[in-house]
Amino acid sequence: MREKYDLFAEVTLQFERAADRLKLEPWIFQKLSQPEKELVVHPTIILDDGKPKTFKGIRVQHSTAKGPAKGGLRYSPDTSLSECKALAAWMTWKCAVINVPFGGGKGVVLCDPLNMSEKELKNLTWEYTLAIKDIIGPHKDILAPDMFTNDRTMAWIVEAYSHGKTQFEFAVATGKSTSCGGSFGRKNATGTGLFFVLEELSKYLNFFLEEKKVAILGFGNVGSSIAKLVHRAGCRIIAITDIHGGISREKGINPFKLQTYVDKRKEIVGFDGTKPIDNEGLISLPCDILIPAAIGGQINANNADSIKAKIILEGANGPTTQEADEILKKKEILVIPDILANAGGVAVSHLEWMQNLNQVIFSEHEVVRRMKKKMMKALRDVLATMKKHKVTMREAAYILAVKRVAKSLKLRRFHNYEEIYLKEG
Ligand code: NAD
Repeated sequence: MREKYDLFAEVTLQFERAADRLKLEPWIFQKLSQPEKELVVHPTIILDDGKPKTFKGIRVQHSTAKGPAKGGLRYSPDTSLSECKALAAWMTWKCAVINVPFGGGKGVVLCDPLNMSEKELKNLTWEYTLAIKDIIGPHKDILAPDMFTNDRTMAWIVEAYSHGKTQFEFAVATGKSTSCGGSFGRKNATGTGLFFVLEELSKYLNFFLEEKKVAILGFGNVGSSIAKLVHRAGCRIIAITDIHGGISREKGINPFKLQTYVDKRKEIVGFDGTKPIDNEGLISLPCDILIPAAIGGQINANNADSIKAKIILEGANGPTTQEADEILKKKEILVIPDILANAGGVAVSHLEWMQNLNQVIFSEHEVVRRMKKKMMKALRDVLATMKKHKVTMREAAYILAVKRVAKSLKLRRFHNYEEIYLKEG
């Protein structure tokens, strides 16, 4: 069982450090220290056995300073308001790092999705959407898939939200299927974005990917996409874990074959030619690149010292605690922070939203080209901030993001454009 810790306190600490450096005005500091809105709802559905059950759902909007809130919806028995607030805040910073005109939001429903039928999940999604419908919408707050939700869930949200309206509001959710208003390239966008950042940095650092040993936590949307891309680039994936357990193979695991296995078995355990391994075993393996792509807090004070990887590429949101970050800094391990590394998903979500609102369809090539451009610009901005402030990559990403959101707030609140531009360039 993973150790419980306060995720919102984690993200607040990261924000506070950046705010300190930027000497944020007290009102901006206070405004960004707490979410703008937290809504708790209790949707009730009839289960397949005929019994009613009431669930708890939350939607948090951390900031709308730069645009409508944007963020995923997570189904999990093991989540909380603190986690939802943290995930919403991370979305604010992530959207600002890659400069898309969105704020940060997040939703969770406390449920056990692996033990619910499709019908139960659909009814729960409908009830949750109807319960939060007043605060969401294409220009208010846009949802997306996260852990244990997917393109089907997004289609149900569009359907429920559009119920009783004169038109379908496709732009209320992104990460939809291409047959239902989705964008080409969205499914693998987060993994693709992760890979672009890793590839570019590896050139910058002369750290060639070929034959590099990789270990991955999670083999869902993000974990499986990045696994396939690093495999294609010549890396050797020596271990992968999922919620049920893990597998290791020194000679390498083929993620394409593993995908076929997982599609049938719904878990990675037992895949041909592999030995079992758990999360802690994977985290401490001698490898070059460690990719957390599952839940938050998996790299923490208890295991950070045992990490032998040279690079940690954060696919998950909040996989590394502050305490662990300090240890990794001392060990000179390069951590490519979540708010930059996994932003490819929201970059393409922005393109999907644009396509829906303008009723156009971009080719996959166009989507990937635009997303790569955004990610590369964000990477250059973060590297420049790192150099200027002599800080870690995470600290630089936060400084950049907080500065951009603060500037937006300031402009909107006081309209003293000239003064701000003269001061901040
Ligand atoms: P997913 O539900 O598709 O996959 C999650 C994976 O993590 C599964 O393989 C699951 O078995 C595994 N997992 C769950 N608990 C685990 C545990 N305790 N130990 C090891 N593995 C565990 O979810 P996803 O969309 O791939 O998201 C993964 C992470 O990436 C989350 O932190 C999410 O917030 C983040 N993220 C996702 C996207 C996206 O576009 N999907 C974008 C940015 C960030």
